[in-house]
This record gives sequence, structure tokens and C-alpha cells, in this order.
Amino acid sequence: MKITAVKSHVLAYDLPEELGYSQLYYAKRTAHLVEVETDEGVTGWGECFGPGNIALANKGIVEKVIQPMILGDDPLDRDVIWHKVYNMTRDHGQKGMPIQSLSGVDIALWDIAGKVAGLPVHKLIGGAHRREVRAYGYGMMLKRESLEDHIARFADEAAAIKDMGFTAAKMKVGLGPKNDVKLCQAVRRGVGDDFPFMVDANHCYTTSDAFYVGRALEELEPYWFEEPVAPEDLDGYRELRAGLSINISGGEAEFGRWGWRQLLENRGLDIAQPEVCGLGGITEYLRVLTLCHAHFTPVINHVWGSAVSVAANLQLLAAIPAMPGGLHPWQPYLEFDTTDNKFRDELLKEPLDIQGQVKSTGGMVQVPTGAGLGIEPDRDYIERFTVSE
Ligand code: CA
Repeated sequence: MKITAVKSHVLAYDLPEELGYSQLYYAKRTAHLVEVETDEGVTGWGECFGPGNIALANKGIVEKVIQPMILGDDPLDRDVIWHKVYNMTRDHGQKGMPIQSLSGVDIALWDIAGKVAGLPVHKLIGGAHRREVRAYGYGMMLKRESLEDHIARFADEAAAIKDMGFTAAKMKVGLGPKNDVKLCQAVRRGVGDDFPFMVDANHCYTTSDAFYVGRALEELEPYWFEEPVAPEDLDGYRELRAGLSINISGGEAEFGRWGWRQLLENRGLDIAQPEVCGLGGITEYLRVLTLCHAHFTPVINHVWGSAVSVAANLQLLAAIPAMPGGLHPWQPYLEFDTTDNKFRDELLKEPLDIQGQVKSTGGMVQVPTGAGLGIEPDRDYIERFTVSE
């Protein structure tokens, strides 16, 4: 079996309303899908993390840099291909966009491997430790509105996410430490005392500001405080984890086993959030998962993107062993963005219908059981939303 083409599809549409987090506002939804074709007619799908113009630049890396390296290779040799691409781009890569690009290609190779074997990816990895995964809903994005409007909307949205059936709710912060504490108080009011919520700062704080917000959060008891400081600020992470009684989470902006080794050895994370579409694909995710568990750090995947990313993550969430085990072991969550995303809801011939599942099951989502990622993207739909550079 030989690889005959590696194609990128960058999709975009205008969101019904602008959304924001601590770093920027955005008005377009994009997705970067990767399709690997073979001489035996089997096609694999993957996805690269990275929105907007990043996706267009990554398309160039996928098609102009990676494709020529692997044309004619056996797609089942995915670890060989991973190291070939990594080694040949090392001087220009190691982290960031080359690794995001490799991630989408690698995921597509796993989809091919599953289709060839007639098995879902979680079976190729070693089986399902769980056949359904609880989901948390994130929303509560920043907008160009007053603090008072933010506070009222966050309380309402938090309650709405709970009503949709999600088992926890995640909010953004980023209006400054004092205002952010007010937003967190509003979300706690919105969900009530016994419902878990999480706070995502997208690395907008200095360590001292993160301590200010974190101390207020100790009262409000969120399940975790995500990316409080810059991903490079390993000292800040370690000090926050040692100094606060709440869980510190992060890792979505880390790449590969070497970056993750440093992050874990630094002891700054209570919960690891690897991004499979960014850190190097499923091949590298499995090594990072092992590293996390070797440090007894639980894993809750970062999930962002289209239905391809959601399906890949469901395969991986099924394959995470209990750590530690027990009658009622600690369980991961599926991260689910409750804001407008056609590429997650409408891309597949048979949609995953996460919102419908969550509503009818009280927050649980089934792991796809079809071969590979267990999904089939609709080509006409992809064509309709494809943008060119
Ligand atoms: Ca995040």
C-alpha cells in the first residue's frame, strides 16, 4: 500500500456573532482537514489545530513540505513516517506549526490503519477502557460589552449549559484580575453550589495576578484553573500549583514528548490537557499520555475543531486507562465547545450529534465504533466551505 496524495482542506464561514477569549476576538470559524489518499482506494482523515491564517500556512506545510517527503510510503508505517517527517523538519520545527501540520497527517494515517484492519482506532491502541465519556460544555466567551453585561450573560450561559445536560461548564476570563473574579462569582451563582465549573485564562496573567484570581477561586471551588500563565512560564506554573489549593491545568500549547517531559518534570500541572491535533497526532499523543501517567498526572484532552477532531478525541478518551484504578475510578471528560460550529455539527454524513446525546443521556457521549476514526466526512459539504489562499 502506498500514499498517493496528501491534501489539505481549509474551511471557513462567518460566525453569527463575534466571540473572544483573553487574547483576541474572532468572527470566522475555520477548520483544517487533512486527507491522505492511497493506491488501494482507502482514504484517511485528520485535522490540524490552528485557526484562520495559521490554517492556511499549515496547509502549505502539509502539501508542500510533508507531502513530498512521504509520497510512495506505506501509510501503515505511521511511526516510521512520523520520525522521518520530524527529523527532516527538526531544524525548522520541533514545536509549533510544523508539528501541528504533522499532527493532521498522522491522524489520517491512523484512520487508514483502522479502515484497513476493520477496527476503530481505540481497538488498534488496545481497547476501550470506557465506551462512553462524560462531556463538559464550554462557552461564556468574551464580547465587546460592559462588565455588567458580561456578568449577567455569564450567569445565564452557565445555567443554560447545565440545562443542556453537560456535566460541567467552562468559562473564559480575561477582563483583568478584579473583573475576572466577578465573572467567576457569576458563573458559580449560575450553576449553583454543587455543579463543577472550570476557569480558562488562555495564559493572560502574570504569576502575581494568577495568584490573586486563584485565591478568590479557592472560595468558589472550580474544578480547575486552566492556562493561568504563559506556557513557557514553567516557574509560574510550579509556584501556582504549590501555592493554591485548586487544580492547575494546561498543556494545550505544548508539543511532543520532549516539551511534555519538561512540563511534567516541572510539577506544575494537576491535570494535563494534550491537544492531539497539535502536539504531533495520535502517534505522539500516546507517548505523551504514557509520560503523563508515568508522572501520575491525569489527562483530559484539549478538544477544538471539527467533527474529525471530536471523533479522534473520543477514540483516545476511550483508550485512556484508569489512573489510579478502583471501583469508581477517576474519569476524563470530552471538552465540548457550545458556541456556533457548523464544521462539528454538519460535516459528517452521519453526525455525531453530541448535543443530542448529552441531552438524552445526562451528559454522556458514545465512542464511535466504526473502522478508523469511525466517521465519514461529506465531500460536498467540504467543497462548499473550502477557502483558497
Ligand atoms: Ca483552553
